[in-house]
Amino acid sequence: MEIAQGQGNMTNSQANIQGGALETAHAQFDRAVQILNLDVGLADLLKSAQRELTVNFPVKMDDGAVRRFTGYRVQHNASRGPNKGGIRFAPYVSLDEVRALAMWMTWKCAVVNIPYGGAKGGVICDPKQLSVRELEMVTRRYANEIAPITGPEVDIPAPDVGTTAQVMAWIMDAYSVRHGYAAPAVVTGKPLNIGGSAGRNEATGRGVMFTVREAYRVFGWRFDDVVVAVQGFGNAGTFTALAAHEMGCRVVAVSNSKGGIYNSRGLDIPRLLVHVREHGTLPGFDGADGVTNYELLALPCDVLAPCALENQLTHETAPSVQARLVAEGANGPTTPDADAILAEKNITVIPDILCNAGGVVVSYFEWVQGLQRMYWDEADVAQRLERIMIRSFWDVHENAVRRNLDLRTAALCLAITRVAEAMQIRGM
Ligand code: NAD
Repeated sequence: MEIAQGQGNMTNSQANIQGGALETAHAQFDRAVQILNLDVGLADLLKSAQRELTVNFPVKMDDGAVRRFTGYRVQHNASRGPNKGGIRFAPYVSLDEVRALAMWMTWKCAVVNIPYGGAKGGVICDPKQLSVRELEMVTRRYANEIAPITGPEVDIPAPDVGTTAQVMAWIMDAYSVRHGYAAPAVVTGKPLNIGGSAGRNEATGRGVMFTVREAYRVFGWRFDDVVVAVQGFGNAGTFTALAAHEMGCRVVAVSNSKGGIYNSRGLDIPRLLVHVREHGTLPGFDGADGVTNYELLALPCDVLAPCALENQLTHETAPSVQARLVAEGANGPTTPDADAILAEKNITVIPDILCNAGGVVVSYFEWVQGLQRMYWDEADVAQRLERIMIRSFWDVHENAVRRNLDLRTAALCLAITRVAEAMQIRGM
């Protein structure tokens, strides 16, 4: 029997892009800790994950060969409630990347003040290279391997890069079969007909744009014919572009891993969604020119929304950014040296742990609905999301003004303080 490794093909550039996520997360954390003058022991504890699990498991592929897959689940800090965080299926997934993403989840849940700790998971695989059956087998085996540390009161996964509502349905099923009853609250981001929440797909993008609109209000800028460029056209990017379009902004560019399209007069996003559904690609859309991901970051626009991957705005790309506002739909898209360059250029960054928190907020709503077996309509979800995003933006902004900090450091200081207080009140 042939046994091969399940890893997909990772290019060197992908490895480099992903490699620095933990360094970025630690550098941001160190800066906030210095400002907060946090106890050294407490800071040391908060810098490490509480629990980390690595799993290796076999899957029988369609051609009969057995392949080994490696996956991770990292729980960073559960002081404020059960751990919460997505699962990423990608060739470049590494334990360090998952650690960084889990840490950011702790801060994100604390910034928007929902009762969760932070977690993240990942499997090294290329879902595009797997058949539907193979993808289901990878998902079910991974779900069973991490089952000892997941559950509705313990750790609740959700979709992230490379995973979908269908993947969540399989995870829910694996857990439900083990326990003998349907357990909707074990994952979020599920399909609607098995307990998903109305408005979950749209949540991250809508949240991004709620924070953008609030930033315009706070800084006294006119929210009129705002020009937006969006990098990444998956869940976060698509719904950021759509929400921007619905708010009357002019979305001039979007992209995916293969490149993007640009039209200075604006792209009709609802029509683009139909085009992508029919043709599966961005190129070929009416009146739009091709643009590379690198060029997209440097386009003339008011709002640049990186919604793809970590480390896209670096010391190499940040100098050419022309936007007045960077809205971080992705997690960790800006490196610390790029942060410094953007600040120098007087460009405001709405940090990931605030900007893209709409996804986890509606995941929280979905979890509450699943536990109560009582479901809300979309208008209800959208209103509650808007309230939380606006309140959180103001919490962070007030912290920034009071301490004279940029929004990222202010958001981190707020989050770390909330988590540290929870640990201290509970007693260490
Ligand atoms: P996704 O898999 O749905 O989409 C990812 C998109 O990025 C795809 O369009 C892909 O083609 C594109 N992409 C990949 N590599 C790229 C590159 N080098 N340059 C440009 N585009 C590239 O994933 P998603 O769920 O939209 O997640 C995207 C980011 O948003 C991640 O950082 C994720 O952690 C973050 N995020 C997602 C959610 C959510 O609810 N889905 C919530 C918060 C944060």
